[in-house]
Amino acid sequence: MSSWDRRPLAAQSKAAATALRTQVVDVVGPFSPFWRERLKTLGRTAASVATLEAVAQLPAVGERDVCPDGDPAGAAALVVQAGERGWALHAEGPVLRRGLARRLVAPRSYAAVVEADTRPTSFVWAGLAMRFPVASTRRDLDVVARCGARLWSVLGLTRADVVVSALPLLPRAEAQALSLGALGAGSPLLAPGNAPDAVAEALGLVPATVLALPADDAAELLDDLDQAGAPLDGVRTVLLVGAPDDDERAAARAALERAGVRDAVVLAVHVPDGHRLPWGECRESGGGSGLHTYPDLELLDAVDPATGERADGAGPRELVLSQLGMRGTALLRWRTGDVVDAVTPEPCPACGRTVPRVVGTRRAALVPPLSLRDGVTPVDLRAAAGGLVGRPDLDDWRLVVRRSPRDGRDQLLVHVRPAASATASDVVTAVDAAVRSSAGLAPTQVVLDDDLPADGHPLGSHLLLR
Ligand SMILES: [Zn+2]
Repeated sequence: MSSWDRRPLAAQSKAAATALRTQVVDVVGPFSPFWRERLKTLGRTAASVATLEAVAQLPAVGERDVCPDGDPAGAAALVVQAGERGWALHAEGPVLRRGLARRLVAPRSYAAVVEADTRPTSFVWAGLAMRFPVASTRRDLDVVARCGARLWSVLGLTRADVVVSALPLLPRAEAQALSLGALGAGSPLLAPGNAPDAVAEALGLVPATVLALPADDAAELLDDLDQAGAPLDGVRTVLLVGAPDDDERAAARAALERAGVRDAVVLAVHVPDGHRLPWGECRESGGGSGLHTYPDLELLDAVDPATGERADGAGPRELVLSQLGMRGTALLRWRTGDVVDAVTPEPCPACGRTVPRVVGTRRAALVPPLSLRDGVTPVDLRAAAGGLVGRPDLDDWRLVVRRSPRDGRDQLLVHVRPAASATASDVVTAVDAAVRSSAGLAPTQVVLDDDLPADGHPLGSHLLLR
């Protein structure tokens, strides 16, 4: 069989269809309490949604769907929870045979086999407007580590590379993916945290060829390292972790220039919120070719951020992912909060890999941190939009985030065009209440507006940043 990143599209789809069927029928459908309930509510069975076409029609879900009252404890319902009896019905053949053979001689060790397949052994934090643990089983961590070898090949690294990671010392999926990835790829990695002194010390003591930096903080950190006299001349690859935007990329390049590092390649690495696998840009492109993904381990889609429904065509949309073959917190049709320009199946023009690429990623753009009266709070625009979609008293609406010229604070404005049958003042009151209840936050103002705003940075057809 050809390698994972060179398979023709048809072969990829066939493998994904098989993996999806197993994931939905044998894992998520029976054992994820959230999806078990949701499928029941939708009047569907796991088997009926276990095809590529059918799963794409399922409304996508995000953290607010799983935790509707804003309590992050709700996310536990995404974790696959298999009992011994249910497991025997759904486990894969070889694992099942081993388990059943053990059951005859040692019932306790049968339980151990069930546990090994389903029991979370590690957590990382995820969440955009809230914070909740994402669980991984040992097998999931193996998948993440094995992905490291793939990531290394995309990034053009080898086991001879030595990594210093300046990511914050937080239990986040990026840090876990990078350290397990290095393990799987056979590269040594030192992760001293993101304090400039500690990173400079690490660079002085190990012969780093790869420096991983948080995308939003990379330029400043590079300047600090330069000031501290940290040896950077051996660095050939700088990884900007967190899908850098154009400004962050340019700032990092300029800081490298200032530090006298002229021949390092700057590449993006990104783990979407809730996911565990790291995507990278290929070295051949020198950055900017889009994030290369893993077609046998995940299914990608893009939805209208206002509704969570499938949206074909052009324009910014929200990235949605389904994990194939992961246990622990098993994500199906998961809304990542990232806005992307496209998920393209076209082979990469730079490296020729045939894997889907995610292009034009704006990380967590749908849950921007807004500076409001009570401090900085991440506001879930998808949840706010949820209070507006499909209302009979509205002809149309726009959700606008803008900076107030008066006090420099952010404002969340809802522009509405009431339906002819509705009374304007009633609409204002009802919309205010609806957003308050769906997003847990009152809009700054509900504006009656016949000409809905069109200028600004679009995050979808109904959401604007100004
Ligand atoms: Zn490429």
